[in-house]
Amino acid sequence: MTETRSTCPYCGVGCGVIIESQGAQITGVRGDPDHPANFGRLCSKGSTLHLTASEPVTLQTRLLQPLQRLQRSATPQPVSWDSALTLATDQFARIVRDHGPDAVGFYVSGQLLTEDYYVFNKLAKGLIGTNNIDTNSRLCMSSAVAGYKKTLGADAPPACYDDVNHAQTIFIVGSNTAFAHPILFRRIEDAKRKNPALKIVVADVRRTDTVELADLFLQIQPGTDVMLFNGMLHLMLWEGWTNPTFIAAHTTGFDDLKATVRDYTPDAVAQTCGISKADLLEATRLFAQSPATLSLYCQGLNQSSSGTAKNTALINLHLATGQIGKPGAAPFSLTGQPNAMGGREVGGLANLLSAHRDLANPAHRAEVAALWGVPSVPDKTGKTAVEMFQAAADGEIKALWIACTNPAQSMPDQATVRRALERAEFVVVQEAFSTTATARYADLLLPATTWGEKEGTVTNSERRISRVRAAVVPPGAPDTAPRHDWAIATDFAQRLERALGRDTTTGTLFPYPTAESVWNEHRESTRGRDLDITGMDYAQLDAKPLQWPMPEGASTGKVRLYEDGVFPTPDGRARFVNAEYRGVAEPREARYPFSLTTGRLRDQWHGMSRTGTLGRLFGHVREPVLQMHPQDMARRLIQENDLVHVTSRRGSILVPVQASPEVGLSQAFMAMHWGEEYLSGVSATGTRLAGVNALTTSAYCPDSKQPEFKHAAVKVLKADMP
Ligand code: SF4
Repeated sequence: MTETRSTCPYCGVGCGVIIESQGAQITGVRGDPDHPANFGRLCSKGSTLHLTASEPVTLQTRLLQPLQRLQRSATPQPVSWDSALTLATDQFARIVRDHGPDAVGFYVSGQLLTEDYYVFNKLAKGLIGTNNIDTNSRLCMSSAVAGYKKTLGADAPPACYDDVNHAQTIFIVGSNTAFAHPILFRRIEDAKRKNPALKIVVADVRRTDTVELADLFLQIQPGTDVMLFNGMLHLMLWEGWTNPTFIAAHTTGFDDLKATVRDYTPDAVAQTCGISKADLLEATRLFAQSPATLSLYCQGLNQSSSGTAKNTALINLHLATGQIGKPGAAPFSLTGQPNAMGGREVGGLANLLSAHRDLANPAHRAEVAALWGVPSVPDKTGKTAVEMFQAAADGEIKALWIACTNPAQSMPDQATVRRALERAEFVVVQEAFSTTATARYADLLLPATTWGEKEGTVTNSERRISRVRAAVVPPGAPDTAPRHDWAIATDFAQRLERALGRDTTTGTLFPYPTAESVWNEHRESTRGRDLDITGMDYAQLDAKPLQWPMPEGASTGKVRLYEDGVFPTPDGRARFVNAEYRGVAEPREARYPFSLTTGRLRDQWHGMSRTGTLGRLFGHVREPVLQMHPQDMARRLIQENDLVHVTSRRGSILVPVQASPEVGLSQAFMAMHWGEEYLSGVSATGTRLAGVNALTTSAYCPDSKQPEFKHAAVKVLKADMP
């Protein structure tokens, strides 16, 4: 038996795993006792990874050779890698020549490794000359990125997981940590056991499993987080619980913010949020008067049309009380996906460039152009996720390259996304699995390697870079077998250089024989930046995962940021940002009287391409259900397991109901994972849809462009009613 150290491919906790293999077969997995994210523990998903890699049903769902469709409705036919990439090159070169570089778009994924992300970004922004490259991390993290940059000056979570052991108050808001980040939750449970004085405050619209650990639970109305945070600041000022010394020494903009929060009175906040004034005061006291307060937050803040405002309003609380830059005190954004952080590091969003540079900054564009050896990087902001599919639906983007993600299921307002995929002239889907809803729209399917077969790196929520290693070779015939994502992008880029007539006499822009060679170029791009990693290399990462920054000469990475009170802003001060409460984009009303929110289950991951192949992972939740409050069900004469039509302005699904007092009155909850095998739907115009995103809205935050998955107005009617 061979043992290979690697990293779990699911959530942003980034647990270390040891893969056991025999020949080409992965036979087991266990937690890596030396990995500082999990110290040997794994959750239900991580501990079954080997089964999802080896069960016969999983192998049946793998994409094992390139496939081409001559017509959209036709069965795809096997082709060689050379034919497939020649076709892709011809089509992309033709469309770029005829319609310009912005007629193509790349939609990638926080499941990709940093090396994959890097090559795709250089390919789009450096070679083709379009910033139309965005990622499904737009759907989970872009509000956190915008929030950190606006307030603290850089997209850098200041804390580490060990801070749960130093905190005296943990404020969990918009995060069902128990399900979404299970091993971090175990660490919080341990911290609470060891330190009975530790207080846990949870604010959420649902009474989730995370609330079981809470000393105080604020069940707020959907979308009212900014109201809550501004109300807490109002009370802090009233009670004298701010930290004037910290504010004076390390921040700007507090006087403006004080004027803003004057109107957020306890009466107004309690009424809008649906909580008691006493609980509001107690939450404020526990936050402000604790020796160390750690906030943990995730999609409840980010997936909102006010996502950036929610992030900045929460960070304002930390700055106002000096709860930052010391052990156990920080605003700590939890990343959903395994490498959303790595994607941010290489500039894998339509508005970013390598190493946290900004596309809007001419000096940054010039730096990246020089690093890449290209004349320039275009200044026009690329299309973000929602904009990209809307542009394809409108005929503006004519070719799409989709890697390691399933937008036909996972994007909001699914009807528009499916219209985009139908209308695009040429769609490439680069995937490990053949079963995704998006694969059906592909003109060309390119098989990619997956967990257990890949080499590279990922970065978790605490800025820790871990190695991902191959334990086995991918299945399939050697000349058509799946390839690594970075290698597919590199091969395509080299062909496109020639097709677009780039002078390659001095060599290719993509000279990458290995994942490590890609990473080394990325590492060099970080020199002198806030996330400088020039002090680490693959060999060191092989020995142990390391946190950034770690500049050349440093012996280790930085455990927590801003301990010196200096922030990466022009004047070294953090910035208070005025954030006004706006409410949800689509309020419930008489015709659509329920607030629908979406979220994760404990044992499933994303669109279930991997976890859905394993029977035991259905033991916790067997089928899709709409959770409703029992009183709402009684009022509408709906019984447990009754089938109901759930309908928004965009589509409708048919699903059984489950009574759940966890859900607030006039609210409903559905898990995000179920695809068309489990939950079919239909758009308002009759297009076949699947899953809860038949209903969700593509309304997004104006700053982060992150869509509001956490709220759509819906109606619920029993299936047998007219
Ligand atoms: Fe994997 Fe996340 Fe579970 Fe850790 S907590 S084993 S990273 S899914």
